[in-house]
Amino acid sequence: MKTLKSYVGGRWHQATAGFSPLLNPATEEVIGQVSSQGVDFAAAVAYARETGGPALRALTFAQRGELLKAMSKVLRENRDELLALSRDNTGTTTPDGSFDIDGASGTLAYYSVLGRSLGDRPYLTPGDGVQLARSEAFWGQHVMVPLQGVAVHINAFNFPAWGFAEKAACALLAGMPLITKPASSTAMVAERAIELIVAAGVLPAGSFQLICGGTGDLLDQLGPQDVMAFTGSADTALRLRSRPALLAANTRFNVEADSLNAAVLGPEAGEGATWALFLKDVLREMTQKAGQKCTAVRRILVPRPDLDRVRAALAERLAAVVTGNPADPAVTMGPLPTAQQLADALGGVTRLRQSARLACGSGERVDGVGSPAGKGFFFAPTLLEAADAFAAGEVHRHEVFAPVATLVPYDGTAEQAAAIVGLGGGTLVTSAYSDDGGWLARFLAGAGATTGRLYVGSDGSAPEAPGTGMAMPQLLHGGPGRAGGGAELAGLAGLDLYLQKVALQGHRAVVNSLAGITS
Ligand code: NAP
Repeated sequence: MKTLKSYVGGRWHQATAGFSPLLNPATEEVIGQVSSQGVDFAAAVAYARETGGPALRALTFAQRGELLKAMSKVLRENRDELLALSRDNTGTTTPDGSFDIDGASGTLAYYSVLGRSLGDRPYLTPGDGVQLARSEAFWGQHVMVPLQGVAVHINAFNFPAWGFAEKAACALLAGMPLITKPASSTAMVAERAIELIVAAGVLPAGSFQLICGGTGDLLDQLGPQDVMAFTGSADTALRLRSRPALLAANTRFNVEADSLNAAVLGPEAGEGATWALFLKDVLREMTQKAGQKCTAVRRILVPRPDLDRVRAALAERLAAVVTGNPADPAVTMGPLPTAQQLADALGGVTRLRQSARLACGSGERVDGVGSPAGKGFFFAPTLLEAADAFAAGEVHRHEVFAPVATLVPYDGTAEQAAAIVGLGGGTLVTSAYSDDGGWLARFLAGAGATTGRLYVGSDGSAPEAPGTGMAMPQLLHGGPGRAGGGAELAGLAGLDLYLQKVALQGHRAVVNSLAGITS
């Protein structure tokens, strides 16, 4: 049995009490334990601020990019070991685990290339300079300067590798040290990945610390130069972001929370590539990682005349999903990672059934292929169906974090589809499947304000579209309202959270010199 450690103050810390067990969710065997008891959080914060920050800020963007490249390489070289840990502690099949682990190494690699392209310039300089008086004697230019505190990253259980890596890539490239905390129940992958990165000796002292277990009084240490980036449920986000100390200090707080993402089939979708992509995406988003992705599809909007054929096509595909122990090669969908997640999913379906009926799947626990009967947190892929979108309250309110989605009929107009999407209160991603440019333009005009990303499935995109669940580092990850109101990734914009924008004013030559602008 493995005891997870924290990496603080340049040393590995192993607790001796206060443990929570870590389980293999396919068998319910205890495979590890986690506790942060004894960690000196104030010392960790001071170490980051006083040792990690100066060391990172002394490096150029290109040098910080090299750190990310080295981290990415460590993850790639140890991919098989991390995949096995993901299977055992998170319940992922190999494709599901690689979505997390390759996503982590890929995002680090992407930001390392951005770092290289920025070279040795001192600062990011968003936008052009601007003349502020009659001549260049008084000129203005924005520059982005690294904050001098620590970034605390708290992550959700479903992406133990990508979760820490995508946040770390932006903070480190920006020049800010971090303390990362994976969700306790699935922390084995993050702990081992970070152990390997530390052992590789690629990071400056104090730039990267790890907490496995609770955060104690960590958040009470944070002040105005620090950053809190949280991914998890909306309830936890609200509790954490409303702590008086954080509010009083105006500590930056980015939230990536849950989201009732919608996939919308446009009218007259026919039976071609757009239709096929819609079905493929919805099936993937319902079952990949057992539906436990913040970007998973929860609501499937279908023009009422298409309801029967969509229900039948999805039911046929969901029936072919093999739920079970990911150690069995026949299995295509693993368990939920904890007993609590299973209980939440069961309760969640009960809530959805106040507003929708079961269309396919039992909405219950099932025995898993390759696991002992009665063991494992397996959940049947389940499709529900609402009769009336505007009377389906729970469907637009409650995220069931499991292979569960609800069919929602609409009248085929872009305006009504957008209005129904908006009932979710803000989504990370919305997908629309149509080859009708006019319909799509009206849909964007109506639904754009309530979603962070609009993925358009069409004949043209079908051959290469990766599915709606993939948050790509080039573009924004984050959504308004219920989705947390946060912003991550989006290329260089992902660094903004860790940088102070300074409006530099003075003679043009002086301003440009300070900003590192040579031409
Ligand atoms: P959660 O219960 O809110 O926990 C998230 C993180 O917060 C965990 O690391 C947890 O640590 C920590 N935490 C909980 N209470 C805390 C406290 N009082 N002080 C400090 N840390 C605390 O969420 P989850 O069950 O892990 O994740 C599932 C949710 O995350 C879903 O709703 C999903 O939609 C959302 N999610 C969103 C995104 C996104 O990018 N928008 C991505 C992935 C998941 P412990 O594990 O130690 O309790």
